[in-house]
Amino acid sequence: MTIVYSRCSTEDQASNGISIDSQVRICTDEAKRLGCNNIKIIKDEGKSAGNMDRPGLKEIMRLCEEKKVKRIIMLSGDRLSRKMENHLFLRGFFKKHGVEVHYTSQANIDINTAMGIMMDNTFANMSEFQRLQTSDKTKACLTQKVKEGWFPGVAPLGYRNVDNPNYRKGEISKRIIIPDDDTAPLVQDMFDLYATGDYSVYTLAEEMARRGLKSRKGKMLHPSKVYETLRNPLYIGELHWGGIVIKKAKHTPIIRTSLFEMVNRTIAAHNHNCCRKRKYQFLLRGFAFCGVCGRRLTAEWHSKASGIKFGYYHCPKREGCSNAYNQVGEMENQVKEQFKNIQFSQSFVNLIVKKAKKILDEKRRQITAKRKLYQNKRNSLEIKRSNAEDKLLKGVLNDNDFTRIRENIREELGAVEYQLDAIEEQRETKIDEIQEILRFSRNIYDAYDKANYILKRHYLSLFWERFDIKDKKIIKAIPTRLFQTLLENKQVIITGKWGD
Ligand SMILES: [Zn+2]
Repeated sequence: MTIVYSRCSTEDQASNGISIDSQVRICTDEAKRLGCNNIKIIKDEGKSAGNMDRPGLKEIMRLCEEKKVKRIIMLSGDRLSRKMENHLFLRGFFKKHGVEVHYTSQANIDINTAMGIMMDNTFANMSEFQRLQTSDKTKACLTQKVKEGWFPGVAPLGYRNVDNPNYRKGEISKRIIIPDDDTAPLVQDMFDLYATGDYSVYTLAEEMARRGLKSRKGKMLHPSKVYETLRNPLYIGELHWGGIVIKKAKHTPIIRTSLFEMVNRTIAAHNHNCCRKRKYQFLLRGFAFCGVCGRRLTAEWHSKASGIKFGYYHCPKREGCSNAYNQVGEMENQVKEQFKNIQFSQSFVNLIVKKAKKILDEKRRQITAKRKLYQNKRNSLEIKRSNAEDKLLKGVLNDNDFTRIRENIREELGAVEYQLDAIEEQRETKIDEIQEILRFSRNIYDAYDKANYILKRHYLSLFWERFDIKDKKIIKAIPTRLFQTLLENKQVIITGKWGD
């Protein structure tokens, strides 16, 4: 079936956002234009996209898991999610279930729409990239704490923060994490259940909620949180932080390594379509096709007589297709050269700059407000602490109560400090992201050339559907529909010839 999804928040309803009925009308028209017959309309009225706690969205996910959905049509990506992590989670989710997500904004695709989509894709890609990058901007003290072998932040699921009983002067790790008696067994259950292969992160979140494992706010765990937890090697006693890896951290592991590995093999099996790190990262995997018979090329290592190994893309057809030995480096170079010929129009670059500025301004406002909030929180906690100390001296508070209160305040203060650091890190990340976007819009080739594997794959997927390869040459480069539209509208300019 085809789902038409519409959502509006309470603010949308109040302001001049497109009403839910208009959304349905526009998307239904689009569905008909695309020739869809079995159309189901799903609405989330008065719901924000800041989280995924929406009945409509849940229904969509259920239908997808039941393999009943072919396509989802909505106005734009922000109908589904305004939060990058959710956006990414959903993107992976739909991809996994073979669901096509179709955006529309006007009945006819006009320049603005295509440009809008391109920009959103670009920004989404950058955000994702920034998230995937291990951050080297982490505060020095957190890094130091990690080097001492301790997890530096608010305790992850199944653990709690306590004072370090073996704290020595000069060390940073005053606060440490220990397994939490209530939640650690539930986290163990979660791994056990997932390892059976009978659960998705979504159904597992529901099951765990039934068993009493919930978010801090007492709600069902977000599926992306479940995913994050299952993949977190912290549970087997490792520490991964800002590029630092400590195999034997000081906290107590609560998951057996064998179970953890089994769970992560299950995740990998569920996600086999997604782009992820491989042993050797063949850049064109998935993009390269046989120019003779049309099959998707596979990439492999071959050893030459000299013992030196070479990577090749070759046609998997056993008999009758001679298309082999397209050397990896050579093919990837040819693809890189394709980017030399692509250039955004000046008006497009201007638009990107304008949007980047808007995003940055907005982010600055948000961060200032957030920082203020936590600074106030810190002040009030410090006042609370002083009051408790005064009461202890006056004998109003007994020793036990004072210890308990101090413990609580310290924990809260620790959390506040951590939040303040996290805010700073967010700001830095955003600036990196904007910088990357500007570099990309001004010189695509240069940006592609300097990008790492993950980002290169993103750039490729923005522009190219596939490359047909024959006899060590790209004989045809097929652009994405989006890129095609931009070309037609001259928002992207091709300078030079293809395939040369
Ligand atoms: Zn072939």
